[in-house]
Amino acid sequence: MEQRILIDMIKLRSAMVENPDMSLPEALFYPEANSNGLKSIRELATFRFTCRRCEDAPCISVCPAEALEKDNEGLINRHTNLCVSCKSCVTICPFGTMMTDFFKHHRNRDLFYDLKDDNELKKFISNCPEGTVSLTENDESPQDNVYRLNDKVLIKEYLYTTEKQ
Ligand code: SF4
Ligand code: SF4
Repeated sequence: MEQRILIDMIKLRSAMVENPDMSLPEALFYPEANSNGLKSIRELATFRFTCRRCEDAPCISVCPAEALEKDNEGLINRHTNLCVSCKSCVTICPFGTMMTDFFKHHRNRDLFYDLKDDNELKKFISNCPEGTVSLTENDESPQDNVYRLNDKVLIKEYLYTTEKQ
């Protein structure tokens, strides 16, 4: 059975709180060639699962580089090749959606692992804080806070929702 990569964003955040100076390894997985600069799975997951999708998104208005826009699903997309790492968007976001380390390393290829390559995948798992990334044969499982980011990647995260649970 095909294995998926499970990235536990809840544990990753705790690991970063315990060790704020840590440089987290970043994973890339592009179904197709990317012309938009390096962007990590962690960033894609954050904009998909924790961003509140503000109607008049202040992060977009404040960006001096026009690096943020909404895609046709309403998800924020950062053009990492335009971003100048000023972090104005981090400061203005009322919900603390973005982790500041997104902006430290996005041009440093050495910290990025291509999950399509088995060797890089193994290195990525072993370099991430223990228990934060694993391989699984399971599919998404909302009752366990596990959601599909794409066919290969599952994300464990508490979803933002306005619906009553
Ligand atoms: S950090 Fe990048 S995306 Fe955020 S406001 Fe600055 S230039 Fe725009
Ligand atoms: S301000 Fe924050 S929560 Fe609102 S759209 Fe931007 S990143 Fe998402």
